[in-house]
Amino acid sequence: MTTDAHDPATLAFYDAEAVPYAARRAAEGTWALDGFLTRLGLGARILELGCGGGQDAAVMVAAGFDVTPTDGSPGLAEVAERRLGRPVRVMRFDELDDVAAYDAVWANACLLHVPEDALSDVLRRVHTALVPGGLFQASFKAGSGGGRDSLGRYYNFPSAASLEAAYRAAGPWTVLEFTASSGGGYDGVQRDWLLVSASK
Ligand code: SAM
Repeated sequence: MTTDAHDPATLAFYDAEAVPYAARRAAEGTWALDGFLTRLGLGARILELGCGGGQDAAVMVAAGFDVTPTDGSPGLAEVAERRLGRPVRVMRFDELDDVAAYDAVWANACLLHVPEDALSDVLRRVHTALVPGGLFQASFKAGSGGGRDSLGRYYNFPSAASLEAAYRAAGPWTVLEFTASSGGGYDGVQRDWLLVSASK
């Protein structure tokens, strides 16, 4: 069952699967992460949402950024802590309440688990957490509305139009760009993805 603000079954899946899930990929740059980091100044404060096993945080730390990794699964946060050798905050997206605290927010393949009706509120929290001009990058599996994969994880599966509406409702963005791509997932299914780059 999905609550208003998060899906307990999805977080329970990641908790139970933390060790094998975290082992699925290496800590190395991706075209999306590398492109994001080149737009930031040295030492920029980056909030990472849904950091999973900490692979992207490890790349950002190694590149000299001031990273705050977070995840809603205590099990994955613990695995990420071991990888990073630093604390990882256990925080659900709907618990974010920082104000103008970050130069950037990195949310790779994680806000796709936010219940459709709660997505605008979470995006508004991200907007509030950014300084003016701050960057925000997130990725979503595209579709035509919420549902579950074969592993029981909930996804919001937005269309480009519904995703844009959720962002626009969350606050004014000076830049809002959508890039379509395709890719796989832990369930082995190839899907269409939407990458969203926003600037406050
Ligand atoms: N960003 C990581 C990566 O790219 O490897 C992990 C992506 S994984 C598909 C989704 C992550 O979002 C998991 O680490 C999961 O624990 C986290 N997550 C799911 N729902 C969440 C919620 N409501 N609040 C915070 N984290 C959540």
